[in-house]
Amino acid sequence: MSAKVFLADHAWRDAGFSGSARLAVDGTGAFAQPQAAVEGEPLGRYVVPGMPNLHSHAFQRAMAGLAERSNTGAPASGRSGPQEDSFWTWREVMYAFAGRIGPDDLRAIATQLYVEMLKAGYTQVCEFHYLHHQPDGRPYADPAAMSLALIDAAREAGIGLTLLPTLYMTGGFDGRPLSERQRRFGHDVDAYLRLLERLRALESPLLRVGIALHSLRAVPEDALRAVLASDAARDCPIHIHIAEQIGEVQDCLAIRHARPVDWLLDHVDVDARWCLVHATHLTERETRRLAASGAVAGLCPTTEANLGDGLFPLKPYLDAGGALGIGSDSHISVSPVEELRWLEYGQRLVTRHRNVGASAAVPSTGEVLFAHALAGGARASGAAIGRLDAGRADLLVLDEASPLLAGRDAAHAIDTWIFSGNSNLVRDVMVAGDFVVRGFRHRDEARIAARYRDVVERLAHHPGDT
Ligand code: ZN
Repeated sequence: MSAKVFLADHAWRDAGFSGSARLAVDGTGAFAQPQAAVEGEPLGRYVVPGMPNLHSHAFQRAMAGLAERSNTGAPASGRSGPQEDSFWTWREVMYAFAGRIGPDDLRAIATQLYVEMLKAGYTQVCEFHYLHHQPDGRPYADPAAMSLALIDAAREAGIGLTLLPTLYMTGGFDGRPLSERQRRFGHDVDAYLRLLERLRALESPLLRVGIALHSLRAVPEDALRAVLASDAARDCPIHIHIAEQIGEVQDCLAIRHARPVDWLLDHVDVDARWCLVHATHLTERETRRLAASGAVAGLCPTTEANLGDGLFPLKPYLDAGGALGIGSDSHISVSPVEELRWLEYGQRLVTRHRNVGASAAVPSTGEVLFAHALAGGARASGAAIGRLDAGRADLLVLDEASPLLAGRDAAHAIDTWIFSGNSNLVRDVMVAGDFVVRGFRHRDEARIAARYRDVVERLAHHPGDT
């Protein structure tokens, strides 16, 4: 089958736009060498690779906005100390919501979320999935039911999925058992590896399967070692929540006598397969060590801001050659633009300087951050994406007719996209050679949104039905 050829006035290459380009897509949905004789279909003025979203908990999309009321005085299990609104009180709201969601609900929620991601420019999502079992902790009749619901959702929406079934075993660094509300999340190592093996057998160009270790507080050292040494762990991405909260760093110091990132780098062979999600609280030494490891720092700036986590040391990390990517995590925002914007704005607010992400080699802040998020996100996804000249044929066409881009040349297009206005500039989205969004519309968005509305209305008003 001959390749289809597409034409871009300006195509993204490595760290900025080149001039016009011919992009060929073969019958398997991968980029190929364009043949000069084939006539091309014009795409538009600005064509960029699809953005990987390296961190998602899909079910949380349905509770976005429900944790913005003052919660002072509510109990926060698993932590001691004053109960001001914090990550830990947010987590109680999240647990209550998570307790109501079954496989059909998860499928409907995730499909809607993935449509929103595609329309915003994400073409691959890493799903850090720990909502495995029934609310009372017993496995479903099919123990993979919730994982399969996410796979169905990604297929229906047409997004690439890196499914990361998550090992979650203890309620704290002291090895305490899971609380009642955490029982849905738990596995022993053998059951976890069975799930992982089964899911890995389903891998395809649009489905990668990797490992997620929930956090150092939720995975004892012997279990971590057993999973990493298993056959099922060969050649796959490995993700972990690492240092999101100061309380977590303090508990790790008290019990393991090291900060989380130091501990992980001291005890495990951390390399480019790893993604350290919320590597928020780093010392200078940890920053340099993490950068040198080749691991990807998984940054979720809007969620980290929403939860009051803290700020990642962006400049020292980039100066040390570190890799990073972005995720929408709790989905209080589903937009690579807003993640990249807040990645930079957080730094500006705290350093009182501008263009913190820019470098001597690439003066455009937007282009530096966009290039990092493409490359780091692709690495964390374990998928051949993030480029327009090789790998899976994922691309975005920006809306050249938008007033936002009036009077802008190619050198300013990415900065304008990221740092001006809030109207969506992602007009068309291709995943693996197929257009899933054209003219701002997803091919099946009305039906998927209607089903989502039904499910969330029921979850909100009749929580006992599920
Ligand atoms: Zn997370």
